[in-house]
Amino acid sequence: MMRLWGRAIVRRRKVLCLWLLLLGFALVTLALSDLLNRDRVHSHQNPVPPRRPLQGIPNDLEVIVDSRDPALELGVDLAPLKSLQEDQLLFVPSMQGTKNPQQRKGTYKVLLPGANKDTRTPAPPTHGEMGKAVQLEEREVESSLVQKYGFNEVVSEKISLHRRLPEARHPECFGEQYSESLPSTSVVICFHDEAWSTLLRTVHSVLDTAPKQYLQEVLLVDDMSQHGHLKSVLSEYVSHLDGVRLIRSTKRLGVGGCRTLGAARAAGEVLVFMDSHCECQKGWLEPLLERVAQDRTRVVSPIMDVIDWQTFQYNATQWPVRGVFDWRLDFYWESKPELQEKDPDSAVRPVQSPVLGGGVVAIDRHFFQSVGAYDPGMLLWGEEQIELSIRVWSCGGSLEVVPCSRVAHLDHHHLPYSFPDDELIQRNKIRVADTWMDAYRKIFYRRDTLAHFIRQSESPNITERLRLKRSLGCRNFHWYLTTVYPQLYIPQDRPALSGELYNVGTGSCADYPRGQGPKGGAMNIAPCSGTGSQHCELNSELEVRWGPMGALCLDAKDERAVLSPCSTHRPTSSRLQWTFIKLSGQLVHQQSQLCLEVLKEGGLPQSSPKEVKTGGLFLRPCTHHPRQQWHFEQLVAPKGA
Ligand code: UDP
Ligand code: MN
Repeated sequence: MMRLWGRAIVRRRKVLCLWLLLLGFALVTLALSDLLNRDRVHSHQNPVPPRRPLQGIPNDLEVIVDSRDPALELGVDLAPLKSLQEDQLLFVPSMQGTKNPQQRKGTYKVLLPGANKDTRTPAPPTHGEMGKAVQLEEREVESSLVQKYGFNEVVSEKISLHRRLPEARHPECFGEQYSESLPSTSVVICFHDEAWSTLLRTVHSVLDTAPKQYLQEVLLVDDMSQHGHLKSVLSEYVSHLDGVRLIRSTKRLGVGGCRTLGAARAAGEVLVFMDSHCECQKGWLEPLLERVAQDRTRVVSPIMDVIDWQTFQYNATQWPVRGVFDWRLDFYWESKPELQEKDPDSAVRPVQSPVLGGGVVAIDRHFFQSVGAYDPGMLLWGEEQIELSIRVWSCGGSLEVVPCSRVAHLDHHHLPYSFPDDELIQRNKIRVADTWMDAYRKIFYRRDTLAHFIRQSESPNITERLRLKRSLGCRNFHWYLTTVYPQLYIPQDRPALSGELYNVGTGSCADYPRGQGPKGGAMNIAPCSGTGSQHCELNSELEVRWGPMGALCLDAKDERAVLSPCSTHRPTSSRLQWTFIKLSGQLVHQQSQLCLEVLKEGGLPQSSPKEVKTGGLFLRPCTHHPRQQWHFEQLVAPKGA
């Protein structure tokens, strides 16, 4: 009986526990539903776009790619995300932070590491000092950002991420018809420590201007940036943008390597490599795709307009324009409006270009891979575009600038990053010279003696590139010079008639001050540089050709020695002809029969016009004064590199 009584009590306790459990469950459910309801009400007032979760980032959003992965070269899918390298960045969603990120302007407050470290508040300035202090602080912030980025980031921050550029296309462009079915495109944007505003303006400008049906994706490739804002904040931001993917490299790859990585991960038929500080003009993509679709070996560039690094003002580039390089292997855009043909079609007709700049290039993905991508031996920055250009031309493709496509590129005041190696650019130039220039490379080494000396002590490992060149059956540099770039003057560099023009009387060298530009200006005398920057040559036409392009000639203007554009006619004008008398060292101007002399400041005759009172190189009656004695000093032995 007692046992029965006991069992009844146990059963009742169990029932009680069950009731209590049920009650607890009901309470929790109630609280949760209230919470959810509140959220729903809130989101109704302030709609939130569907978010992709930040933890457990999906593979298509962000992958840490180890570029050493052999799968890359094979184009095989890479291993999924291993770990997300986070930074110490504080990421604070602001009060209005739940809006669509495209409307962002101050949506996120980015607190850079260390920004809030010092909690001591300085003594408040006196009333009058306040305005000045604020102004000073602003200016300091501005100049430190210019230092950091190479452009005025304060101004850039104030400009909308969706600003529209003023129309700069030729009216003829609006009548152009493009094919209905153009190839799909991956826009590959590599960046290393790019500023937030410029990077995002680039991305939005592509999204705002490229037709959806052709834009497969925007592929952001982080070349191991260090700046905090490019880590989780960027991942979060990109996660809201349709059609934008972000991959990260675990190794600093440099421009070419980073682009090759992007290409290996891209899905579009055509690749557009774009710098991380560009703004696209309406309708920029279609004309490029049309040209590539017509011929898959065509590599094309828009007209590159210029964004001013100080004001962010947009400056349209004059047509016709094409890319060229000089004998120091430096790149230039050559804009020659005077060459505009009378033919009305010429305003919309693409022009072939010896090289293209790196800012924006469109290339068929398969052609890019088969022609050898970017040279993996190139270090960080520089020359990769010249290398690609010479290779494309020599190995069966072509390059052109398409005038109805315009993209603006931010021209930096200085590069925003430093290199671990001072001679990095020379090393990249050496690769170009040794792989592609055959015997013509000597002309380069004479004009870049640093490259020459590096080359003497080490050889570049270009075996793979030479093998590629052979297997693709590429043409030689002579073909390239005569067929693609016949305008480039080919120096003769005759022994004893080329090198630095050394003046016996002063122990200095003839010099053309930098910054006077390609149109010419007054010659001067300066310490001999020994770098090849003062290289000139007296050729068989009796011209003294100056500079790495060899397009400027020693000329006389009144009594002054100046540089002028060389004549394209043969025989050349006698005004540009000189005789070098080896025995006396005199350099005699043919037309006037006067001799080249160095005059010190104040050493001029009274009769001289006011503006030539400063010292420099002049034409004077011939004497045997040491200041009229010259010789061409060769810095690189005639055998060359
Ligand atoms: N870049 C990169 N890795 C580097 C150096 C540059 O990804 O090591 C990126 C850079 O952010 C830019 C592009 O490559 O988007 C070209 O570099 P930059 O604009 O500095 O060259 P420039 O236009 O001055 O020739
Ligand atoms: Mn750039």
